[in-house]
Amino acid sequence: MTRTKSILTEAKQIERAVTLINLGARLQVLESETDLSYERLLRLYKEVSGKSPSKGQLPFSTDWFMTWQPNIHASLFMNIHEYLNKVAEMDEIDTVIKAYQLYQEQTQAQGLEALLSVTRAWRLVKFVDNGMLTLTECNKCGGRFVTHPHEIAKHYTCGLCNPPARAGKGKAAGGIQMH
Ligand SMILES: [Zn+2]
Repeated sequence: MTRTKSILTEAKQIERAVTLINLGARLQVLESETDLSYERLLRLYKEVSGKSPSKGQLPFSTDWFMTWQPNIHASLFMNIHEYLNKVAEMDEIDTVIKAYQLYQEQTQAQGLEALLSVTRAWRLVKFVDNGMLTLTECNKCGGRFVTHPHEIAKHYTCGLCNPPARAGKGKAAGGIQMH
């Protein structure tokens, strides 16, 4: 299966940008994923969201993804993303968008707050692409979780099977299933 990079019409680019803005993406994501000019994107952002984009740096560290609850959310998203990558032929950013929408549906269905923002989800895919993070199988439940690449699978137990002592077992994770 070859993945040809589609030549996007301007209308398609605007549609993509609007979808990302509605999902709460930061302006930097739009700049990176469309060919629209900064001025154009800024106007679009204000029109669609009704506010100015927040300034400041994107989160560049992998630390957040390693904390307990965020890790479970990030892993859920990555499992969906990997699945879509296998079954659907889409541009990379469209896979992120679709996977994020499915992630939101899953958390909503379970009455959970979507801890993972679309901007973080987008960063996460980049971290996995460049090998800074990976998915490792839990030695207890067999689910695949976001870890550092040097994690030894044999010794790895996920945050659902081994929640921190302060957390009620399975409670704060909201019964998220990784299968
Ligand atoms: Zn586990």
